[in-house]
Amino acid sequence: MSTSVHAVHQGYLSLYLHIPFCRTKCNYCDFNTYAGIESLIPAYVDALVRGMEMWGRAVGPKSRVDTVFLGGGTPSLLPVEDTDRILQTCATAFELSPGAEVTLESNPGDLTHRLLEGLLAVGVNRLSIGVQSFNNAHLVALTRRHSAAEAAQAFRMARDAGFDSINLDLMYGLPRQSLSDWVETLDEALGLSPRHLSLYALTLEEGTPLWKDVDTGAVPESDSDLAADMYLHAEEALGRAGFVHYEISNWAKPGYECRHNLTYWRNGSYLGLGAGAHSYYGGYRFSDERNPRRYIERVTGLYEGRNNGQRGPADGRMVVTAEMLRRTAPIDHLEAIDEGLEMAETMMMGLRLMEGVSYEGFDGRFGRSLDSMYGAEVEELVGLGLLERCPSTGSGRAGLIRLTPRGRLLGNEVFGRFLSDEV
Ligand code: SF4
Repeated sequence: MSTSVHAVHQGYLSLYLHIPFCRTKCNYCDFNTYAGIESLIPAYVDALVRGMEMWGRAVGPKSRVDTVFLGGGTPSLLPVEDTDRILQTCATAFELSPGAEVTLESNPGDLTHRLLEGLLAVGVNRLSIGVQSFNNAHLVALTRRHSAAEAAQAFRMARDAGFDSINLDLMYGLPRQSLSDWVETLDEALGLSPRHLSLYALTLEEGTPLWKDVDTGAVPESDSDLAADMYLHAEEALGRAGFVHYEISNWAKPGYECRHNLTYWRNGSYLGLGAGAHSYYGGYRFSDERNPRRYIERVTGLYEGRNNGQRGPADGRMVVTAEMLRRTAPIDHLEAIDEGLEMAETMMMGLRLMEGVSYEGFDGRFGRSLDSMYGAEVEELVGLGLLERCPSTGSGRAGLIRLTPRGRLLGNEVFGRFLSDEV
């Protein structure tokens, strides 16, 4: 166990709440989610509420939550009363910013007028719909439980109910998916006029049913060059449609960038609650107990045990230790992040963003210049055409570095250069 001690100024926080329930398990998915355990939902929601109360007490009343993200799994499976209870607890355990972004991930098969209106009424103001494809054959191949028409209908219902900020998740690089299939899916999505699109290449996760099918030859492997062409087509088509390509895999109409995910990419602090949820707080990365049943038991044990009286400091400054974290949450894995690793992670995640990493921002955060830490790596990657320096307005001095269009296709290669000495 680490004995590192970190002082934290209480300020803005992002909160991730993991809902590990799915009605069916998709064949490509290796997220910490389960089908057939919905009977646990009431006890799990109790545990989440208790978890938030414990965190609220531990980090103090001045911690202002600016973004809340209900992810999964399938948060749209929760009865709206449970979502209401969770969000009300957020507002009492912490201080919820008046303009907080509150996102809920949903499956198109769950969305009804009644549910959508209920979600808006309890404070959800951003909806993410897991569409994945507008091609029925691909949806069947991915064992999704909705059709293309249902997904389009879900989007329209959400708009009619009053949701303005809607994201669609789509996947490309699917087995047997042609470029024209992808063009059609993207056109269908654009026809709905979403404010945000997240486009991810399918990754074959070892052990999943789809991975096994590809491994045995029952399903052909997708072509990575074709997937790159799909990505390039998306960049071009979405640019024409007025989207800002603000992160490698994310596009938004101006002003609709996902603030919650920006916290991750800017290497900011967030608390994750729920089975297997990850956090980065006070110089530690840690994750909660993965098994939903044991998560409930362990939160209950902490809540009913000595932690229940724990109080955070009133002066807005607190000391975070591994022991304090373990008294507050049912932690499985915990890692102290030293400054070297924090720098590497700041580079790796910041370069995912089109805003890149600014020299001034790096200097302000670490008290050291970016060039003194990574001058050689940046030089080499600029030479390879994977990074570019952009001057700040007027001064002529390099203001930021970011990926080039080619670097966006080879992101992992670039990120590895910053992590290699640290891991
Ligand atoms: S709905 Fe989403 S989280 Fe659930 S199994 Fe399918 S891909 Fe995984």
